[in-house]
Amino acid sequence: MTTTLEDCRALDAQDPLRALRDQFTLPEGVIYLDGNSLGVLPKAAPARIAEVVAKEWGEGLIRSWNTASWFDLPQRLGDKVARLVGAAPGEVVCTDSTSVNLYKVLFAALSQQKDSGRKLVVSERSNFPTDLYIAESLCRERGFTLKLIEVDELAGALTDEVAVLMLTHVNYRTGAMHDMKAITAAAHEAGALAVWDLAHSAGAVPVALNEAEADYAIGCGYKYLNGGPGAPAFAWVHTRHAGRFEQPLSGWWGHAAPFEFTPHYRPAPGVARYLCGTQPIVSLSALECGLDTVLAAEPFDGERGGMGALRAKSLALTDLFIALVEERCAGHGLSLVTPREHARRGSQVCLSRDEGAYAIVQALIARNVIGDFRAGDTQMPDILRFGFTPLYLGFEDVWNSVEQLVQVLETGEWRRPEFNRKNAVT
Ligand SMILES: *Cc1c(COP(=O)(O)O)cnc(C)c1O
Repeated sequence: MTTTLEDCRALDAQDPLRALRDQFTLPEGVIYLDGNSLGVLPKAAPARIAEVVAKEWGEGLIRSWNTASWFDLPQRLGDKVARLVGAAPGEVVCTDSTSVNLYKVLFAALSQQKDSGRKLVVSERSNFPTDLYIAESLCRERGFTLKLIEVDELAGALTDEVAVLMLTHVNYRTGAMHDMKAITAAAHEAGALAVWDLAHSAGAVPVALNEAEADYAIGCGYKYLNGGPGAPAFAWVHTRHAGRFEQPLSGWWGHAAPFEFTPHYRPAPGVARYLCGTQPIVSLSALECGLDTVLAAEPFDGERGGMGALRAKSLALTDLFIALVEERCAGHGLSLVTPREHARRGSQVCLSRDEGAYAIVQALIARNVIGDFRAGDTQMPDILRFGFTPLYLGFEDVWNSVEQLVQVLETGEWRRPEFNRKNAVT
């Protein structure tokens, strides 16, 4: 049975999460399918940032480290992230970028394995490049070898030479999701530690770090967590490693007593040692507004973090998008790259096309449907990528975005030269 515009409107009318959209400022007429790359602006953020700047900084001055609770902001926000990723309070800090946090946790994991005789770090060739770049230099520095595999080679790759398995939970390009619990168990069975990147998972899909017994995890603040451009990222360590994992960037903020100003480094007991230097308070304050927009879903399913309700809507949105594209764009050369199986799908849908993927995305952006493009390589075709954030997208938005895609393809307008010029950021 085909879905109509009327059906989509009826689905929106019944959607219990509909009101969550009012938490955001979105330009009139824009359908934003890129919350997986840069989340949208929470309505509360401009006023909160102004308050931090004008009152807490302007009037409170240095007193605000204590009076405005600036000092423990990374931990307080970490506790909010913990609710979204199946961690406990005190196990997460918000700080630094994803790349820097990966450096820190991978360093710790490698240090733990340095006397094991194991020399391999295994990751996927299709992992996000910064993860591979960081791993490459760390491996070189620490005497390990980075081994890149295809996803179907994973089982065979977990040999007794593997020190660390480093994976991104939801693939940035395809939207394919790993079974974190099963893979972590397999890594442990083989004697390896499991490091997970949650950049496309936190705030997008349910994550259960403690239940999965993962070792280390990091994630991004500016994607589904709506923390703003370059928002601080987060880091998590399983409590079995707490108190003994290494922090290579041994700055004073990760010291057990920074204001004792002693000449020797003594790391803070838990994850707080992953702080390095003085924290970006304005950026952290904006991130808190973003985290609160996601946690606003908590009352709708009673689960910690509210990810159950968000996940149900996310799957309904992506199912609908896939069905409408297959029905209405048939014959236009688009193929589905993202897994159909719910258990293997993140919160995005990726389509490939032999020709014109970049230009089609540009033509859609000109029509106010904002997705993005990711270049292919010898193993992977060019991709049109559409992220679905259930906090602010509805079923009619899905209908309208497919309608625009149909028009771009049927008119062939994507062939126009202005849609074929590459921008610096794609
Ligand atoms: C977005 C993303 C990053 C971003 O890293 P930054 O340090 O914030 O630039 C890292 N890893 C993955 C898997 C990502 O998707």
